[in-house]
Amino acid sequence: MSIKKLNGTVIVTYRCNARCTMCNRYKAPSNPEEEISIETIRKLPPMYFTNITGGEPFIRTDIKDIVRELYKKSDRIVISTNGYFTDRIVDLAKEFPQIGIRISIEGLEQTNNEIRGLDNGYQRGYQTLKKLREMGMKDVGFGMTVQDKNAPDLVPLYDISDEMGMEFATASLHNSFYFVEAKNIIHDRPMVAQNFENLINKLLKSNSPKKWFRAYFNHGLINYIYGQKRLLPCDMSFDTFFIDPYGDVMPCNGTKDKEVMGNLNRQTWDELWNSLEAEKVRKKVRCCDRDCWMIGSVSPAMHKYIWVPMLWVLRHKLKFWKKKKYSMYENKIVRDYRDGKVTKEELDKCSTCDMLAKVNDGLSDKSREQLKDKTGEEIVD
Ligand code: SF4
Repeated sequence: MSIKKLNGTVIVTYRCNARCTMCNRYKAPSNPEEEISIETIRKLPPMYFTNITGGEPFIRTDIKDIVRELYKKSDRIVISTNGYFTDRIVDLAKEFPQIGIRISIEGLEQTNNEIRGLDNGYQRGYQTLKKLREMGMKDVGFGMTVQDKNAPDLVPLYDISDEMGMEFATASLHNSFYFVEAKNIIHDRPMVAQNFENLINKLLKSNSPKKWFRAYFNHGLINYIYGQKRLLPCDMSFDTFFIDPYGDVMPCNGTKDKEVMGNLNRQTWDELWNSLEAEKVRKKVRCCDRDCWMIGSVSPAMHKYIWVPMLWVLRHKLKFWKKKKYSMYENKIVRDYRDGKVTKEELDKCSTCDMLAKVNDGLSDKSREQLKDKTGEEIVD
Protein backbone atom coordinates (compact mmCIF):
# COMPACT_ATOMS: atom_id res chain seq x y z
CA MET A 1 0.00 0.00 0.00
CA SER A 2 1.44 3.41 -0.94
CA ILE A 3 1.83 5.92 1.90
CA LYS A 4 -0.06 9.20 1.53
CA LYS A 5 2.43 12.04 1.36
CA LEU A 6 1.59 15.35 3.02
CA ASN A 7 2.31 19.02 2.39
CA GLY A 8 4.26 20.49 5.31
CA THR A 9 5.65 23.83 6.39
CA VAL A 10 8.47 23.86 8.92
CA ILE A 11 8.88 27.13 10.84
CA VAL A 12 12.47 26.61 11.97
CA THR A 13 12.71 29.82 14.00
CA TYR A 14 10.71 32.88 15.04
CA ARG A 15 13.90 35.00 15.04
CA CYS A 16 14.05 37.55 12.23
CA ASN A 17 16.51 40.29 11.24
CA ALA A 18 13.99 42.21 9.08
CA ARG A 19 11.58 44.88 10.42
CA CYS A 20 8.58 44.53 8.14
CA THR A 21 5.72 46.97 8.61
CA MET A 22 3.09 44.24 8.17
CA CYS A 23 4.62 41.66 10.52
CA ASN A 24 5.64 42.01 14.16
CA ARG A 25 7.29 38.62 14.46
CA TYR A 26 10.72 40.28 14.83
CA LYS A 27 9.48 41.67 18.16
CA ALA A 28 8.58 38.17 19.39
CA PRO A 29 11.48 35.80 18.63
CA SER A 30 11.82 32.21 19.79
CA ASN A 31 14.57 31.22 22.19
CA PRO A 32 17.22 29.38 20.10
CA GLU A 33 17.55 26.68 22.79
CA GLU A 34 13.95 25.66 22.16
CA GLU A 35 13.94 25.75 18.37
CA ILE A 36 13.01 22.57 16.51
CA SER A 37 15.81 20.00 16.62
CA ILE A 38 17.05 17.53 14.03
CA GLU A 39 15.63 14.72 16.22
CA THR A 40 12.14 16.21 15.94
CA ILE A 41 12.52 16.84 12.20
CA ARG A 42 13.40 13.14 11.80
CA LYS A 43 9.94 12.29 13.16
CA LEU A 44 8.08 14.19 10.40
CA PRO A 45 6.07 12.12 7.89
CA PRO A 46 6.83 11.68 4.16
CA MET A 47 5.95 14.85 2.23
CA TYR A 48 5.47 15.67 -1.44
CA PHE A 49 6.27 19.32 -0.67
CA THR A 50 8.01 21.09 2.22
CA ASN A 51 8.29 24.80 2.79
CA ILE A 52 10.99 25.94 5.22
CA THR A 53 10.25 29.32 6.69
CA GLY A 54 10.67 31.55 9.75
CA GLY A 55 11.26 34.21 11.05
CA GLU A 56 14.32 34.18 8.85
CA PRO A 57 15.38 30.54 8.35
CA PHE A 58 18.99 31.39 7.47
CA ILE A 59 19.48 32.74 11.00
CA ARG A 60 19.75 29.05 11.96
CA THR A 61 23.39 28.11 11.52
CA ASP A 62 22.39 24.43 11.22
CA ILE A 63 20.05 25.10 8.26
CA LYS A 64 22.12 22.72 6.09
CA ASP A 65 21.58 19.85 8.51
CA ILE A 66 17.85 20.62 8.57
CA VAL A 67 17.63 20.58 4.77
CA ARG A 68 19.70 17.39 4.56
CA GLU A 69 17.32 15.68 6.96
CA LEU A 70 14.20 16.99 5.22
CA TYR A 71 15.40 15.77 1.83
CA LYS A 72 15.23 12.22 3.20
CA LYS A 73 11.45 12.58 3.44
CA SER A 74 10.40 15.27 0.99
CA ASP A 75 10.15 15.29 -2.82
CA ARG A 76 10.49 19.06 -3.11
CA ILE A 77 11.73 21.77 -0.74
CA VAL A 78 11.32 25.53 -1.04
CA ILE A 79 12.85 27.98 1.45
CA SER A 80 11.23 31.38 2.04
CA THR A 81 13.83 33.95 3.05
CA ASN A 82 14.51 37.69 3.04
CA GLY A 83 17.72 36.97 1.12
CA TYR A 84 19.94 39.00 3.45
CA PHE A 85 22.46 36.26 4.29
CA THR A 86 23.77 35.85 0.74
CA ASP A 87 26.81 33.73 1.64
CA ARG A 88 24.76 31.25 3.67
CA ILE A 89 22.15 30.94 0.91
CA VAL A 90 24.76 30.45 -1.82
CA ASP A 91 26.60 27.91 0.32
CA LEU A 92 23.40 25.91 0.84
CA ALA A 93 22.53 26.12 -2.85
CA LYS A 94 25.92 24.62 -3.74
CA GLU A 95 25.08 21.48 -1.80
CA PHE A 96 21.38 21.41 -2.83
CA PRO A 97 21.11 22.92 -6.33
CA GLN A 98 17.65 21.39 -6.75
CA ILE A 99 16.21 23.37 -3.83
CA GLY A 100 13.70 26.19 -4.32
CA ILE A 101 14.45 29.66 -2.93
CA ARG A 102 11.88 32.46 -2.67
CA ILE A 103 13.20 35.84 -1.63
CA SER A 104 10.71 38.34 -0.24
CA ILE A 105 11.03 41.61 -2.11
CA GLU A 106 8.26 44.10 -1.48
CA GLY A 107 8.60 46.32 -4.51
CA LEU A 108 11.24 48.44 -6.21
CA GLU A 109 14.25 49.53 -4.19
CA GLN A 110 12.88 52.40 -2.11
CA THR A 111 9.50 50.80 -1.40
CA ASN A 112 11.09 47.50 -0.48
CA ASN A 113 13.55 49.06 1.92
CA GLU A 114 10.83 51.13 3.58
CA ILE A 115 8.52 48.13 4.05
CA ARG A 116 11.17 45.58 5.06
CA GLY A 117 13.33 47.87 7.19
CA LEU A 118 16.54 46.14 6.13
CA ASP A 119 19.61 48.23 5.29
CA ASN A 120 20.24 47.83 1.58
CA GLY A 121 17.68 45.00 1.67
CA TYR A 122 16.61 45.28 -1.98
CA GLN A 123 20.15 45.12 -3.33
CA ARG A 124 21.06 42.21 -1.08
CA GLY A 125 17.95 40.25 -2.04
CA TYR A 126 18.33 41.04 -5.73
CA GLN A 127 22.05 40.21 -5.79
CA THR A 128 21.37 36.93 -3.98
CA LEU A 129 18.79 35.98 -6.60
CA LYS A 130 21.16 36.94 -9.41
CA LYS A 131 23.96 34.86 -7.93
CA LEU A 132 21.69 31.83 -7.58
CA ARG A 133 20.59 32.21 -11.19
CA GLU A 134 24.22 32.47 -12.36
CA MET A 135 24.92 29.24 -10.47
CA GLY A 136 22.32 27.62 -12.71
CA MET A 137 19.62 27.20 -10.07
CA LYS A 138 16.21 26.84 -11.65
CA ASP A 139 13.71 27.08 -8.80
CA VAL A 140 14.34 30.64 -7.61
CA GLY A 141 12.09 33.65 -7.45
CA PHE A 142 10.57 36.68 -5.82
CA GLY A 143 7.83 36.73 -3.18
CA MET A 144 5.85 39.96 -2.72
CA THR A 145 3.19 40.86 -0.13
CA VAL A 146 0.98 43.33 -1.98
CA GLN A 147 -0.45 46.26 0.01
CA ASP A 148 -1.40 49.92 -0.56
CA LYS A 149 2.18 51.10 -0.41
CA ASN A 150 3.70 48.73 -2.96
CA ALA A 151 0.79 47.85 -5.28
CA PRO A 152 2.04 50.23 -8.04
CA ASP A 153 5.33 48.28 -8.03
CA LEU A 154 3.62 44.95 -8.64
CA VAL A 155 3.89 44.81 -12.43
CA PRO A 156 7.33 46.51 -12.63
CA LEU A 157 8.69 43.92 -10.17
CA TYR A 158 7.04 41.09 -12.09
CA ASP A 159 8.73 42.39 -15.26
CA ILE A 160 12.14 42.29 -13.55
CA SER A 161 11.56 38.74 -12.34
CA ASP A 162 10.31 37.69 -15.77
CA GLU A 163 13.38 39.12 -17.48
CA MET A 164 15.54 37.13 -15.07
CA GLY A 165 13.48 34.00 -15.87
CA MET A 166 12.31 33.69 -12.27
CA GLU A 167 9.21 32.64 -10.39
CA PHE A 168 7.00 35.43 -9.03
CA ALA A 169 4.86 34.62 -5.99
CA THR A 170 2.33 37.07 -4.57
CA ALA A 171 0.44 37.41 -1.29
CA SER A 172 -1.54 40.14 0.39
CA LEU A 173 -1.87 41.33 3.99
CA HIS A 174 -3.04 38.77 6.56
CA ASN A 175 -3.59 38.96 10.30
CA SER A 176 -2.73 36.07 12.60
CA PHE A 177 -0.72 34.95 15.63
CA TYR A 178 2.05 33.98 13.19
CA PHE A 179 2.46 37.58 12.01
CA VAL A 180 1.79 38.83 15.58
CA GLU A 181 -0.55 41.26 13.89
CA ALA A 182 -4.28 42.03 13.86
CA LYS A 183 -4.39 45.47 12.24
CA ASN A 184 -3.32 44.75 8.67
CA ILE A 185 -5.85 46.01 6.16
CA ILE A 186 -5.96 47.22 2.54
CA HIS A 187 -7.35 50.77 2.38
CA ASP A 188 -7.59 51.55 -1.32
CA ARG A 189 -9.06 48.29 -2.60
CA PRO A 190 -9.83 49.43 -6.18
CA MET A 191 -6.26 50.70 -6.67
CA VAL A 192 -4.72 47.47 -5.36
CA ALA A 193 -7.19 45.37 -7.38
CA GLN A 194 -6.36 47.36 -10.53
CA ASN A 195 -2.69 46.44 -10.13
CA PHE A 196 -3.63 42.78 -9.65
CA GLU A 197 -5.77 43.03 -12.79
CA ASN A 198 -2.78 44.31 -14.77
CA LEU A 199 -0.64 41.45 -13.48
CA ILE A 200 -3.35 38.87 -14.23
CA ASN A 201 -3.55 40.04 -17.83
CA LYS A 202 0.24 39.78 -18.20
CA LEU A 203 0.19 36.26 -16.77
CA LEU A 204 -2.72 35.17 -18.97
CA LYS A 205 -1.01 36.57 -22.05
CA SER A 206 2.09 34.41 -21.49
CA ASN A 207 2.60 30.97 -22.99
CA SER A 208 3.18 29.33 -19.64
CA PRO A 209 0.33 27.21 -18.15
CA LYS A 210 1.96 27.70 -14.74
CA LYS A 211 1.49 31.46 -15.12
CA TRP A 212 -2.16 31.02 -16.16
CA PHE A 213 -2.79 29.24 -12.86
CA ARG A 214 -0.90 32.03 -11.06
CA ALA A 215 -3.36 34.41 -12.72
CA TYR A 216 -6.19 32.49 -11.04
CA PHE A 217 -4.40 32.77 -7.68
CA ASN A 218 -4.14 36.55 -8.13
CA HIS A 219 -7.82 36.70 -9.11
CA GLY A 220 -8.43 35.02 -5.72
CA LEU A 221 -6.37 37.76 -4.06
CA ILE A 222 -8.75 40.43 -5.41
CA ASN A 223 -11.62 38.41 -3.95
CA TYR A 224 -9.72 38.15 -0.63
CA ILE A 225 -8.93 41.85 -0.24
CA TYR A 226 -12.65 42.58 -0.68
CA GLY A 227 -13.27 40.24 2.28
CA GLN A 228 -15.21 37.59 0.36
CA LYS A 229 -15.54 33.81 0.89
CA ARG A 230 -12.58 31.79 -0.38
CA LEU A 231 -12.90 30.63 -3.96
CA LEU A 232 -11.84 27.12 -2.90
CA PRO A 233 -12.45 25.11 0.30
CA CYS A 234 -9.72 25.14 2.93
CA ASP A 235 -8.54 21.63 3.84
CA MET A 236 -5.64 22.57 6.08
CA SER A 237 -4.87 19.93 8.76
CA PHE A 238 -6.30 17.13 6.59
CA ASP A 239 -3.34 16.59 4.28
CA THR A 240 -1.38 19.73 5.09
CA PHE A 241 0.30 20.90 8.28
CA PHE A 242 2.57 23.53 9.81
CA ILE A 243 5.05 22.81 12.59
CA ASP A 244 6.38 25.68 14.72
CA PRO A 245 9.80 26.10 16.36
CA TYR A 246 8.49 24.39 19.53
CA GLY A 247 7.43 21.22 17.70
CA ASP A 248 3.74 22.18 17.92
CA VAL A 249 1.86 20.91 14.87
CA MET A 250 -0.81 23.31 13.61
CA PRO A 251 -3.25 23.41 10.69
CA CYS A 252 -1.87 26.63 9.21
CA ASN A 253 -0.43 30.05 10.00
CA GLY A 254 -3.64 32.01 9.38
CA THR A 255 -5.58 31.48 12.60
CA LYS A 256 -6.10 34.28 15.11
CA ASP A 257 -4.71 32.21 17.98
CA LYS A 258 -2.34 29.30 17.74
CA GLU A 259 -4.27 26.02 17.19
CA VAL A 260 -2.35 22.93 18.28
CA MET A 261 -2.95 19.38 17.03
CA GLY A 262 -0.12 17.91 19.12
CA ASN A 263 3.58 18.22 19.85
CA LEU A 264 6.20 16.31 17.89
CA ASN A 265 8.89 16.70 20.56
CA ARG A 266 6.76 14.60 22.89
CA GLN A 267 4.64 12.43 20.55
CA THR A 268 5.21 10.25 17.52
CA TRP A 269 3.75 11.53 14.24
CA ASP A 270 1.04 8.82 14.16
CA GLU A 271 -0.04 9.49 17.75
CA LEU A 272 -0.27 13.19 17.06
CA TRP A 273 -1.95 13.04 13.64
CA ASN A 274 -4.61 10.58 14.84
CA SER A 275 -5.21 12.22 18.23
CA LEU A 276 -8.43 13.69 19.61
CA GLU A 277 -6.80 17.14 19.66
CA ALA A 278 -6.02 16.84 15.95
CA GLU A 279 -9.66 15.92 15.27
CA LYS A 280 -10.86 18.91 17.28
CA VAL A 281 -8.67 21.23 15.23
CA ARG A 282 -9.97 19.67 11.99
CA LYS A 283 -13.53 20.38 13.12
CA LYS A 284 -12.59 24.03 13.72
CA VAL A 285 -10.96 24.25 10.29
CA ARG A 286 -14.20 23.00 8.73
CA CYS A 287 -16.01 26.09 10.03
CA CYS A 288 -13.12 28.57 9.84
CA ASP A 289 -14.33 31.94 8.58
CA ARG A 290 -10.99 33.71 8.10
CA ASP A 291 -10.98 33.02 4.37
CA CYS A 292 -7.22 33.41 3.97
CA TRP A 293 -5.75 33.29 0.50
CA MET A 294 -2.09 32.40 1.07
CA ILE A 295 -0.20 30.07 -1.23
CA GLY A 296 0.36 27.58 1.64
CA SER A 297 -3.37 26.83 1.89
CA VAL A 298 -4.38 27.64 -1.69
CA SER A 299 -1.81 25.58 -3.58
CA PRO A 300 -2.98 22.24 -2.08
CA ALA A 301 -6.61 23.29 -2.72
CA MET A 302 -5.81 24.20 -6.33
CA HIS A 303 -4.38 20.71 -6.84
CA LYS A 304 -7.27 19.00 -5.09
CA TYR A 305 -10.05 20.97 -6.83
CA ILE A 306 -8.09 21.39 -10.05
CA TRP A 307 -11.23 21.63 -12.25
CA VAL A 308 -12.15 25.01 -10.66
CA PRO A 309 -8.96 26.90 -11.62
CA MET A 310 -8.79 24.91 -14.85
CA LEU A 311 -12.22 26.07 -16.00
CA TRP A 312 -11.36 29.63 -15.01
CA VAL A 313 -8.14 29.45 -17.03
CA LEU A 314 -9.91 27.99 -20.07
CA ARG A 315 -12.59 30.67 -19.96
CA HIS A 316 -10.03 33.44 -19.76
CA LYS A 317 -7.70 32.05 -22.39
CA LEU A 318 -10.72 31.86 -24.69
CA LYS A 319 -11.48 35.50 -23.88
CA PHE A 320 -7.90 36.38 -24.76
CA TRP A 321 -8.19 34.69 -28.14
CA LYS A 322 -11.26 36.88 -28.73
CA LYS A 323 -9.07 39.88 -27.84
CA LYS A 324 -10.88 40.46 -24.53
CA LYS A 325 -9.04 40.90 -21.26
CA TYR A 326 -9.63 39.90 -17.67
CA SER A 327 -11.40 42.60 -15.67
CA MET A 328 -11.49 42.96 -11.89
CA TYR A 329 -15.19 43.83 -12.33
CA GLU A 330 -15.84 40.17 -13.07
CA ASN A 331 -15.96 39.98 -9.26
CA LYS A 332 -19.47 41.00 -8.18
CA ILE A 333 -18.22 42.65 -5.00
CA VAL A 334 -15.85 44.90 -6.98
CA ARG A 335 -18.80 46.03 -9.12
CA ASP A 336 -20.98 46.51 -6.05
CA TYR A 337 -18.37 48.73 -4.42
CA ARG A 338 -17.90 50.75 -7.61
CA ASP A 339 -21.70 51.18 -7.87
CA GLY A 340 -22.04 52.29 -4.23
CA LYS A 341 -24.05 49.21 -3.20
CA VAL A 342 -21.55 48.47 -0.45
CA THR A 343 -19.48 50.91 1.61
CA LYS A 344 -15.81 50.89 2.56
CA GLU A 345 -16.82 50.47 6.22
CA GLU A 346 -18.85 47.39 5.33
CA LEU A 347 -15.92 45.90 3.45
CA ASP A 348 -13.56 46.72 6.33
CA LYS A 349 -15.85 44.72 8.61
CA CYS A 350 -15.49 41.69 6.32
CA SER A 351 -11.70 41.72 6.80
CA THR A 352 -9.81 40.06 9.67
CA CYS A 353 -8.52 43.46 10.82
CA ASP A 354 -9.38 44.06 14.47
CA MET A 355 -8.02 47.28 15.96
CA LEU A 356 -8.91 46.18 19.50
CA ALA A 357 -7.58 42.63 19.33
CA LYS A 358 -5.06 41.40 21.85
CA VAL A 359 -2.58 39.59 19.66
CA ASN A 360 -1.43 36.12 20.64
CA ASP A 361 2.18 35.62 19.52
CA GLY A 362 2.28 31.83 20.03
CA LEU A 363 5.54 32.06 22.05
CA SER A 364 6.50 29.57 24.75
CA ASP A 365 6.91 30.79 28.35
CA LYS A 366 10.68 30.50 28.03
CA SER A 367 10.78 32.62 24.87
CA ARG A 368 8.49 35.19 26.45
CA GLU A 369 10.71 35.25 29.55
CA GLN A 370 13.68 36.58 27.52
CA LEU A 371 11.52 39.56 26.47
CA LYS A 372 11.33 40.77 30.07
CA ASP A 373 14.55 42.76 29.96
CA LYS A 374 15.31 42.93 26.22
CA THR A 375 13.35 43.74 23.08
CA GLY A 376 12.97 41.18 20.32
CA GLU A 377 15.30 43.24 18.12
CA GLU A 378 18.03 43.27 20.79
CA ILE A 379 17.74 39.51 21.26
CA VAL A 380 18.12 38.80 17.55
CA ASP A 381 20.88 41.35 16.99
S1 SF4 B 1 -9.05 29.73 6.17
FE1 SF4 B 1 -7.75 27.89 6.28
S2 SF4 B 1 -5.66 28.68 6.25
FE2 SF4 B 1 -7.00 30.38 6.85
S3 SF4 B 1 -7.05 30.37 9.10
FE3 SF4 B 1 -8.80 29.20 8.34
S4 SF4 B 1 -8.03 27.10 8.36
FE4 SF4 B 1 -6.23 28.41 8.40
